[in-house]
Amino acid sequence: MVYAGMSAKTPAERLLDLLGPVNQFHDPVELGDFGMPSRAFMEDMLEPVASAGPGSRLGPLEKIHVFWFAGMSCDGCSVAVTGATAPSVEGLVLGAHPGLPRVILHHPVLNMEAGPSYMRPHELAVQGKLDAPYAIVLEGSISDETIAMQTGGYWSGQGEEPWGPNGEMRTVSTDEWIARLSQGAAASIAIGTCATWGGIPAARGNPTGAMSLMDFLGQDYRSAFGVPVVNIPGCAPIGDNFTETVAAVLYFLQGFGPLPEFDELGRPAWLFGETVHRHCVRGAYYEEGTYAAEFGDKECLVEIGCWGPVVNCNITSRGAINHVGGCMNAGGACIGCTMPGFPDKFTPFYKRPPGSMASTGMARMMGSVVRPLRRYSNAHLNREVRWDLQNDTPTGWARERSEPSGLSNFGHRFYDRMRRSGDTGRRRGGEWGKRDEWSDERDSSTERMLPGGVGHHNQ
Ligand code: SF4
Ligand code: SF4
Repeated sequence: MVYAGMSAKTPAERLLDLLGPVNQFHDPVELGDFGMPSRAFMEDMLEPVASAGPGSRLGPLEKIHVFWFAGMSCDGCSVAVTGATAPSVEGLVLGAHPGLPRVILHHPVLNMEAGPSYMRPHELAVQGKLDAPYAIVLEGSISDETIAMQTGGYWSGQGEEPWGPNGEMRTVSTDEWIARLSQGAAASIAIGTCATWGGIPAARGNPTGAMSLMDFLGQDYRSAFGVPVVNIPGCAPIGDNFTETVAAVLYFLQGFGPLPEFDELGRPAWLFGETVHRHCVRGAYYEEGTYAAEFGDKECLVEIGCWGPVVNCNITSRGAINHVGGCMNAGGACIGCTMPGFPDKFTPFYKRPPGSMASTGMARMMGSVVRPLRRYSNAHLNREVRWDLQNDTPTGWARERSEPSGLSNFGHRFYDRMRRSGDTGRRRGGEWGKRDEWSDERDSSTERMLPGGVGHHNQ
C-alpha cells in the first residue's frame, strides 16, 4: 500500500537513493592495532577448537558469517540469546551440530575485534568478497535515517567508513548496513519485537520514524536464497526461539530439508501457533473461575491485566531460559510483548483487558458449580478403598479426621457406579469393583479384617 506522499519505493531503497553507491573502504594495511590480540580475528582463534571443518562437514556449507546489527535497541535480545541452550551460541560458533555450518559471528558486543578490524568483514560482504555466504540479524527497530540526515546526524550507527572525495570518516548508520547487506544475504532475520514489528521505539509519538525490518525492506524482499524476512518476536525474545530457528534455516540453506514452516507474518509457525493461555500454569484457575486480586496471588492474572488468551507466545511451554521461568511462572501478567500491536494496543498495562469480561463472567458461573463438585470428588479420591470399607483413615498426621457422612458415601458410590459402567471387567457390586480371583480373595480377606469380621485388626 502506498500512502499519500510516499513513493512506491521501500524505505531501504529511498535511503540508498539518497546515499548513492559506496566505493571507498578502509585500507587493509592500515587497519591499525585494534582487536585482541592486535590484528587477530576471533574466527582465527576459534577455528582450531571448532568441531566442524572441511573434513567433517556434511553439506556444501562449511561456514556461514552472521552479521549482528543493533538498531533502536536496548540490547535485551543479545542478552536473551546468550542464555540460549538448545542450541547454544557456543554450539553454533563451534560447529558442534552435525550438518550445520559453523557460524562465524560478528557481534558488536561479543566479538573481540574492535574498530576497523571489526568492520573489515562487513566491508568484504558489501563488496561481495567474503569467503562464505552470510546472514544478517537485526535487533532493535530501524529508524528513519532520512529524518536524521536533514540535520547532519544519525539515529543509530555502527563503525566508521571513509566517505566522499577526501576520504573523510563518517559513521555508517545501521539502516545503511542493512539496506546494503540485505540484498546479498542468505537470510535476513529480525530478532525481538522492535526489529520484527517496530516495538517500543515505534510506539505513539515515534520521533525517529522507527519501523520493523519487514517495513524497511518491503513486501517483495527476498534473500539471496529466496527467503522473506524471518521474524522472531519477543521483548525480550526467548533465546532458544532464536537459535532454534537459526538452526532450522541453516539446515535448509545446507540443503538438508525444506524451509521450516513460517506463518503469514514470518514467525516460526511451530513456536508461535499457540496462545500463552493454552499452556499457562494458571489456566486451570481461569477455567474454575478464580482470579488473582493482586500480584503475588497464585490464581489466574487476567483481572489484573493478563492478555494471555489472545497472544501468540510459547513462553508458557518453553520457559524463559533452559525451560525455567517465564512470565506467569514468575508471577507476571502477559502484556503482549510478542505481538505486532505491542505496545500501543495493550496499554494501559496491568489493567483488565475489556474483552475478558464475558469469558471470566461465564467461567465464574461455571466455576461456582464445578469447584464444589471437584472438591467432593477430590475428597473421595484422597481415600484408599480399604478406608472406605473400614470407615476409618489410619493417618498419624491428623488427630481427628472426619469420615464421610452417609450422604457423601451414597454420592461416592453412585459416582463409582457411573465410572465403572463402561468397564467390561467389572463385578456387580463390591467396593473393589473388579472381577478376578485376586480381588475376590482380597475382598474376602478384607472383609475378615473389618470391624465385626473374623480377624479384627488393631485400630
Ligand atoms: S494468567 Fe493469563 S495466560 Fe495464565 S490463565 Fe490467566 S489469563 Fe491465561
Ligand atoms: S507471556 Fe506475554 S509478556 Fe510474557 S513473553 Fe509472552 S507475550 Fe511477552
